[in-house]
Amino acid sequence: MAKGGHKSHSPVTRLVTGGRSGDFAEHVVNPPVWRASTHLYPDCAALREGVKDNADGRFFYGRRGAPTQWALCEALTEMEPGASGTVLYPSGVAALVGALLAVLKAGDVLLVTDNAYDPTRGAAMGILKRFGVEHRFFDPLDHAAYEQAFCERTKAVMLENPGSLTMEICDIPALAHIAREKGVVSLVDNTWATSFGFPALEHGCDIAITALTKHVGGHSDLMMGAASAGERWYRRLRQTAQQLGHVVSPDDAALALRGLRTMGLRLERETASALALAQWLEARSEVAHVLCPMLPGSIGHDLWQRDFTGGCGLFSFVLKDRDDAARCRLIDALKLFGIGYSWGGFESLALPFDVEPVRARMPWPKDGWGVEDRYGIRLSIGLEDPADLIADLEQAFAAMDQG
Ligand SMILES: *Cc1c(COP(=O)(O)O)cnc(C)c1O
Repeated sequence: MAKGGHKSHSPVTRLVTGGRSGDFAEHVVNPPVWRASTHLYPDCAALREGVKDNADGRFFYGRRGAPTQWALCEALTEMEPGASGTVLYPSGVAALVGALLAVLKAGDVLLVTDNAYDPTRGAAMGILKRFGVEHRFFDPLDHAAYEQAFCERTKAVMLENPGSLTMEICDIPALAHIAREKGVVSLVDNTWATSFGFPALEHGCDIAITALTKHVGGHSDLMMGAASAGERWYRRLRQTAQQLGHVVSPDDAALALRGLRTMGLRLERETASALALAQWLEARSEVAHVLCPMLPGSIGHDLWQRDFTGGCGLFSFVLKDRDDAARCRLIDALKLFGIGYSWGGFESLALPFDVEPVRARMPWPKDGWGVEDRYGIRLSIGLEDPADLIADLEQAFAAMDQG
């Protein structure tokens, strides 16, 4: 009989034991899929009592979830040291925007890391602006400029590590510390490492956000997001998510829980394969730069070694002296890599990217790079044999230059 784990256990054990304190755990390993909009009360008195107590783990109505979603929340909270609760959202973007809406109001200023996931920028420039929140982008590698970006009305900082597409690792403990000293709430998009590889709250952030769509789901078959926080911010997140009507299906919650159990193994395997591919790419004459936090010499590699207990399969590289057409020939020639958005699944993916038109503070190509070093490709390494992936890339490089 497994009745849940303990926070003193190692992360890989907590992935297995987490979220199993419910009554179901006496009978089955996984929580049943509770499909329910209506929850029934024995009588009117119980119905009236039920309205008063908006607490976790109490039946009320489908929008507040049922034991399947609660088990996933509990497991994710147990994975995040310092968290007192986790709120689920129907996608990673819903989690990012739901958390920002929970901490900001009209007249506030939001600082956003310049290498943020593109929809995070979109929310700052779109819905948040429309509701009276101003934003400023900052370079997370320039601490002096970051400090100067704060003003009296700054209320929140949105961090991300590593940066989207360009994969710079920044000093999250330092950036979060500066925010906290100024009384500003820090949020971090921790999708890349998850709490398994980077315990964000322990490193000083107030709210840790993860797109469960990626590693937690792990099988490219569900969309979901989560935000975890200590007591104060958890209450705000939960209240705002309830007001926005956010809810996830019990079927998806069960799939996410299933993915979570094997996430440690998948991440370890992906990380090792990604590093092998990154090292192979680094030695290729067609490649100008490999942007992979696990690779010695990459931007912030020392911080990755200091702050992270793991990596994942997602990294990028930049072609040398090639154009966009060559990049497309390369990607189109790949046989084992799918072409598509998202990442963190069991299958490998490749995606062209161009950040030049998007970034406000971080130049691309980077300082010191050749002007033609601009055509980027992001790889998400899955669970295939890395030798097969390398052979696939090798034949695709040949195809690129035959065009
Ligand atoms: C994919 C992604 C998200 C958004 O997740 P969705 O579930 O696709 O909405 C957020 N942050 C990062 C870094 C991502 O890669």
